[in-house]
Amino acid sequence: MTEAIIGLGSNLEHPEEQVRTACRELCGIPGTVPVRISSLYSSVPVGPQDQPDFVNAVALLRTELTPELLLDALQDIENRHRRVRMRHWGPRTLDLDILFFGSTVMDTARLRIPHPEFRNRVFTVIPLLEILPDFRIPPENIPLRDIVGSLPSRDLEALSIIRKNP
Ligand code: ATP
Ligand code: CA
Ligand code: CA
Repeated sequence: MTEAIIGLGSNLEHPEEQVRTACRELCGIPGTVPVRISSLYSSVPVGPQDQPDFVNAVALLRTELTPELLLDALQDIENRHRRVRMRHWGPRTLDLDILFFGSTVMDTARLRIPHPEFRNRVFTVIPLLEILPDFRIPPENIPLRDIVGSLPSRDLEALSIIRKNP
């Protein structure tokens, strides 16, 4: 079994419900068990600012799947949430990203792991710190808590917990 970290986000059609439902749907992925799920956070959008704030969370899974099969399963869930792909970084009903997959490093046309933007985003770093305070970022093995100081302070100030138990 591999420990995978998933980032969840939504800013359309009742985002809080979208993320809470998606958390439950993670239980239905074959060969996979959700282990821990963070609180729900509210964050300001990256990229275009003329869109609603996001609801975000992070989940720790244990899975027998390969990264590709896990992405297939996550994209099935996105599709069930009627995700329509419009402009890049635009609004969406549900976004599920693989942030980490054990210590795997890969860069293919379909999958980049660790997620290249992980470290720059308060809505991935802070929820992960909540559920795994001693997490070390692969492959360099850097303590997660050490990178909090390099996050944009405006983003940190804008991030807030909106619900403790998704
Ligand atoms: P970002 O990746 O910057 O958060 P995004 O989530 O808005 O942007 P999407 O439109 O959801 O991007 O995804 C575009 C493609 O990214 C997907 O079809 C998928 O093949 C690819 N992708 C690459 N690496 C990953 C990853 N680690 N997790 C999920 N998708 C990935
Ligand atoms: Ca994303
Ligand atoms: Ca995505």
